[in-house]
Amino acid sequence: MTHRMIARRDVLKLAASGSLALLSGVGQRAWAAGSSSEYLFSLGVASGDPWPDGFVLWTRLAPVPLDPHGGMPMRVVSVDWEVAEDERFTRVVKSGVAEARPELGHSVHVEAKGLRPGWRYWYRFRANGELSPVGTARTATPTGVEMDRLRIGVAGCQHYEEGFYTAYRRLGEVADLDAIFHYGDYIYEGRARDCTKVKNCVRSHAGDEIYSLDDYRRRYAQYKLDPDLQFAHAAAPFLVSYDDHEVDNNWYNECDQDGSHAEAFLLRRAAAMQAWYEHMPVRQAQYPTSAGVRMYRRFDYGDLLRVQVLDTRQYRHGGAPQTNKPPKGCRQEAAGPVTMLGSQQEEWLSAGLSSSVRWNLLAQQVMVMPFTYPAGRDAGRTNVDSWSGYAQARERLVAQIVQRDLKNVVIATGDVHQHHAGVVPVREGALEGPAAATEFVCTSISSGGEGVQLSNGWKGTPADNPHCQLYDARRGYQVFDIGRDSWRTDVFTMDKVSGQGGRSTLTNSFVVEQGHVALNRAS
Ligand code: FE
Ligand code: CA
Repeated sequence: MTHRMIARRDVLKLAASGSLALLSGVGQRAWAAGSSSEYLFSLGVASGDPWPDGFVLWTRLAPVPLDPHGGMPMRVVSVDWEVAEDERFTRVVKSGVAEARPELGHSVHVEAKGLRPGWRYWYRFRANGELSPVGTARTATPTGVEMDRLRIGVAGCQHYEEGFYTAYRRLGEVADLDAIFHYGDYIYEGRARDCTKVKNCVRSHAGDEIYSLDDYRRRYAQYKLDPDLQFAHAAAPFLVSYDDHEVDNNWYNECDQDGSHAEAFLLRRAAAMQAWYEHMPVRQAQYPTSAGVRMYRRFDYGDLLRVQVLDTRQYRHGGAPQTNKPPKGCRQEAAGPVTMLGSQQEEWLSAGLSSSVRWNLLAQQVMVMPFTYPAGRDAGRTNVDSWSGYAQARERLVAQIVQRDLKNVVIATGDVHQHHAGVVPVREGALEGPAAATEFVCTSISSGGEGVQLSNGWKGTPADNPHCQLYDARRGYQVFDIGRDSWRTDVFTMDKVSGQGGRSTLTNSFVVEQGHVALNRAS
């Protein structure tokens, strides 16, 4: 189908009225029948990577989302965009025309500039007479300018088959979010499961395990059709990263879990990273190249917060062998130091750790604090896919924090599908000694299915991990309320993800005092 054939729909009227609340209605009606919505903006809109005078606005044209090329013709299509100071678009302050190119899956990345700092805006697109849904985003505050508060949501690990995305809707409903940090596992690469035959399966992937660029594009399209995910994107700018499942389970550097030859895996990794770029609201600086994607980057919010988003996958070297399937075919040079970030990123991170901001947030993927599994198959073991498999790199990170005498470092983590809250000890192994940083590990939006508050097998955990105060394997998200003197982390859990309409409950709150690296239970 060519986009000329696409009829204007009443979706346009709804979108034009500019209310976020209408998004849900649009989504459920248009997508109930399957993938053939024929609405150009079926994958919604997103914003991301705010800076003091702007942010990225994103969309991708896909009238038939699961078809090759999303149903788009193989040519460049013009897309109008506008940014307004009100949600009815009566005061449009910036506008322009962007290209949706076939080389990039007809995705659109606009870097809006010249906006006011610390200000809320609304944005939308128009193509072929159709209007997109409306999203909202707040700009950041210039480095060094005094700032009192920030609210940042945390989410990730959204296996499509294992649960509905109600947690995303609840997160999007949180008032006044400045941003949402996504710790990765935006998609999962596995082939379709038969939900009548396996547990924790509420809806099936389209197709087999994904390898090619078109495979990855189709997987992103299927995930992005979800109205709750679209709702969260429309509600706040995302600071996205990636973890393993955007490419393949537990991949790192040039190695996959199956022991594929590096030359073959790198082709797959390149396809996955191009698709990641195409579907994420990131800047030109994250454009995919033959060398990979530069995903690690920095955001400042006045003098209150510096966020350093880390890439703990692409540059790893010399870690402990993965327990189940050690890589056989991938070429990894034996020489060189053990590293989680690679030397370049490590130097960049070190230079960015700042004593002139109230808080330093390391926004990353895998657990930094040591952690011993108390029960089950892995009892007594540690997860070598986390920083614990790269203990020398963790020691260097801790040393950088300690040398600068920073007592304001907070780490946000995902990956394990459990809520944890703990501290990273200054001395490797001295779990109850002084701490270098606090760490909040966020569970998953849906991965793992319903989950449990704390299984019987985990009851011995605190004894093995005295530096860790929270163990909760239910689904959910976290919200960071960041003030000048205290940092509050609210931990939310869902009562269900196996059906629609789950309820979200605030189940734990922690406070960290600026200048004192310790977790306190909020009263
Ligand atoms: Fe995950
Ligand atoms: Ca992961």
